Amino acid sequence: MVYEIVKYGDPVLRAKGRRIEKIDDGIKQLAADMLETMYAAHGLGLAAQQIGLALQITVVDVAPVLNNHPSAMSMDGKPVDINAWMPMVLINPRLELAAERDVASEGCLSFPDIHGDVSRATTIKVRTQLLDGREVAFEAAGMLARAIQHEVDHLGGVLYIDRMNSATKFSLSGRIKRLQKEGLANPTQGKPRPAKYQPSKKPGPANMEETDEM
Ligand SMILES: [Zn+2]
Repeated sequence: MVYEIVKYGDPVLRAKGRRIEKIDDGIKQLAADMLETMYAAHGLGLAAQQIGLALQITVVDVAPVLNNHPSAMSMDGKPVDINAWMPMVLINPRLELAAERDVASEGCLSFPDIHGDVSRATTIKVRTQLLDGREVAFEAAGMLARAIQHEVDHLGGVLYIDRMNSATKFSLSGRIKRLQKEGLANPTQGKPRPAKYQPSKKPGPANMEETDEM
C-alpha cells in the first residue's frame, strides 16, 4: 500500500521512533509498504515518521542513482556490491560518524521542492537489524552514507533543516514557514492515499539520477 507522505509541520516528524522489539508480519508488511511509498515518490529513502509512525524503521535504495552519486559499502573491511544490498530495510539502526565531513544538496520527501546544502560525515559505521532479524555491521561512504544519516536522523525526530547552516536556512525560511503552516493545518498521520491513486512502477535509473529526496 502506498501511504501519504507526512509533510513538515506535522508533529510526528519530531517524534523519536520507538525501538522495534519483534520483527513480525506487521513489521514486514510495513517495510513493504514503505518501499512502495518511497518508489512511488521517487525517493532514495523513507523513514517511518514520514508515513506517520514513530518507529525505528527506515528504508533506503541508492541503486538507481549510483551513476551520478557514487557510494561505497564494506563489511569486515572488504568492499561489497551495493546493488546486492539494495533496497535495504534498517531496523533499530545505530551510527558512528567519521570526523571528515562534506557538503552536498539534499532534498526530503517531507519538504517538497526544498533543497539545501547539508554537511554530513563522508563515512559512517552502521549497526542495524535487517528484516530477517539478522544484526549486521557495515561501513558506508558517499551517497549511501548521506542517505542513511538523513534517514536515521528522521528516526530520532531530527530533520535536514536542523543540519543546514544559518545562511542556507535563512534563504529557505519563507518556504519552510509556509510548509509548516500547511502541515499544521493538514496533519496527515500516515493516512493512506485514496484508492484511485496508483503507484508507479519502481523507477529505473534513467529518471532517478537527479533525485536527492529522502
Ligand atoms: Zn527526509
